[in-house]
Amino acid sequence: MVTITLEDVLSRYWGYTSFRPLQRDAMEAILSRRDSLVVLPTGGGKSICFQAPALVGGGVGLVVSPLISLMKDQVDTLVANGIQAACYNSALSADAKTATAAGIREGRYALVYVSPERLAGEGSDSFLSLFGGPSDGAQGRPMSFVAIDEAHCISQWGHDFRPEYRQLGALRARFPGVSLHAFTATATARVRRDIMSQLALRDPLELVGSFDRPNLVYRVLPRASLKRQLQDVLARHRGQAGIIYCTSRREVDALAAWLADSGIRARPYHAGLEDADRHRHQDAFLNEDADVVVATVAFGMGIDRSDVRFVVHAGAPQSLEHYQQESGRAGRDGLEAECVLIYSGADFLKWRVMLERSGELTDARRALLRDMERYAAGVGCRHRHLVSYFGDDYSRVECGACDYCLGELESVGDAIVVARKILSCVARVGQRFGAAHVANVLCGSESEQVSARGHDRLTTFGLLRAAPVAEVRGYIEQLTAEALLRQTDEPYPVLALTEDGVALLKDASSRPGLALARQKRPTTDRLPARSRVETESWQDVDRDLFERLRGVRLQIARDRGVPPYVIFHDTTLRELARLKPTSLSALRGVYGIGARKAEQLGDAFVQEIRAHVEER
Ligand code: ADP
Ligand code: ZN
Repeated sequence: MVTITLEDVLSRYWGYTSFRPLQRDAMEAILSRRDSLVVLPTGGGKSICFQAPALVGGGVGLVVSPLISLMKDQVDTLVANGIQAACYNSALSADAKTATAAGIREGRYALVYVSPERLAGEGSDSFLSLFGGPSDGAQGRPMSFVAIDEAHCISQWGHDFRPEYRQLGALRARFPGVSLHAFTATATARVRRDIMSQLALRDPLELVGSFDRPNLVYRVLPRASLKRQLQDVLARHRGQAGIIYCTSRREVDALAAWLADSGIRARPYHAGLEDADRHRHQDAFLNEDADVVVATVAFGMGIDRSDVRFVVHAGAPQSLEHYQQESGRAGRDGLEAECVLIYSGADFLKWRVMLERSGELTDARRALLRDMERYAAGVGCRHRHLVSYFGDDYSRVECGACDYCLGELESVGDAIVVARKILSCVARVGQRFGAAHVANVLCGSESEQVSARGHDRLTTFGLLRAAPVAEVRGYIEQLTAEALLRQTDEPYPVLALTEDGVALLKDASSRPGLALARQKRPTTDRLPARSRVETESWQDVDRDLFERLRGVRLQIARDRGVPPYVIFHDTTLRELARLKPTSLSALRGVYGIGARKAEQLGDAFVQEIRAHVEER
């Protein structure tokens, strides 16, 4: 028998020349049938870790996945690469089910994707009897391993607990001879421990990757005029894919409608929509009929596209774990992408009220909220902040990929003086007004709200007149994170002084070293600096050709009825637009082009490249 190596598989089916960190170890754990838990960030390349080994061993790899849309996506991608894979779930028609069952019985597939209840729930027996056993002489392939994707769904400590995942606890006892392999992007030690014990993993190999995502640019903006701020982001990403997360369905609908009115191909996505509408919007996004999805955080999991170039949060999430997961949907293809958090202190208050109402406001949740707030108001490298939060050391001095390191923020010369002006204004308005009003008073706003209350006659009126309101809002957030101010609870959030705040008002030296930062002025009509990754990934790429190749890809995808990224990732298109191969032999070996794709798609792309080169 000819033995095929993991390297062969990687280049033949995927057109990749090397392993990413930990991939080889993860694959070898599967081949040696040792249980494992693999933690890699989104975009780290988890899928291949369980897909490639299935092509080396003789059996079938079963993959448990929480969402039918994710399964379909992965199976489409595998099939396009010439790999025999199928999914078996409740969304299949009766005919498709029969056909797939027959395929499994005949040993046609190397990988089968299933939902958790297929393996462990009631009625799983008939499904499992489709597989050949080592001893029963059936013609079907035996099951060789079970990979559990998004394994954090089994843990109540995770951010996406799914009760149906609990059934997977029965797997170990049920398949004593089959190795179990859990995969997740959720890093916290508690979730990891929980996964291992829930699944009863046996002496598992634990592989935990680095959590930095160097291709993502992180920016944080205090919320001032949300629409203006969104327009700025969108202007940097015309025609590119993006996700905008909101905290309420109402906001989702309003923003999606506003974007559509402004000529942006945007769709709403939340649990309040009819199933059919939601699917339509999701498909439009995946198939490049829409560029932007506006979604509630509670409901964004199925809308993954690997070429998402920006993720905006129009409000702060409830923890950095959530932020990491949601913003991590950007740039899964490894190319540059931007994550923008637009927040205000009121977001945290809203979370507290919401969690309190549902009886979930534990000390742990409060701490998570505070950590999120610290990140938002923090002044320092965002990559460093995230990486150290998740328990790693960050070795670079500056990341070249966050607002701080790109020099978009500057520190305020006299932070103590500015802080005292703000604290004093909060005191003057009687600690009975919110951040927006306080900022207006400080900036000397001539609005009705200010004058009607006589606040234009306060000594603090116009004290920070030289600063834009958004900037003052930013200072207020920072002072809140520094615990000099706090937002009081209902009915309306108002700003109040903390003990430390009062102390600083009395004695300017009570807070040495207090720092405040602001966006550099003027920020309008100046494009932000490009990150290192962005500059490098466009190096020598013919952008016009890249767009033409996108068109070819879209056409092929339409003909085949699959999303465009199933055909090629942007990484591959950029590589083609850089190298401009004009023959099939030159095209083979380009990053991301396996044998099957070279054979089936090569001509179309080579022709387009030739035409482009000749026209020049
Ligand atoms: P995850 O599931 O961890 O979020 P994916 O499995 O979707 O990540 O992989 C992210 C991207 O990286 C995909 O486009 C995948 O094809 C690509 N990728 C994975 N492994 C490699 C590799 N060894 N070399 C190059 N690209 C890879
Ligand atoms: Zn940085």
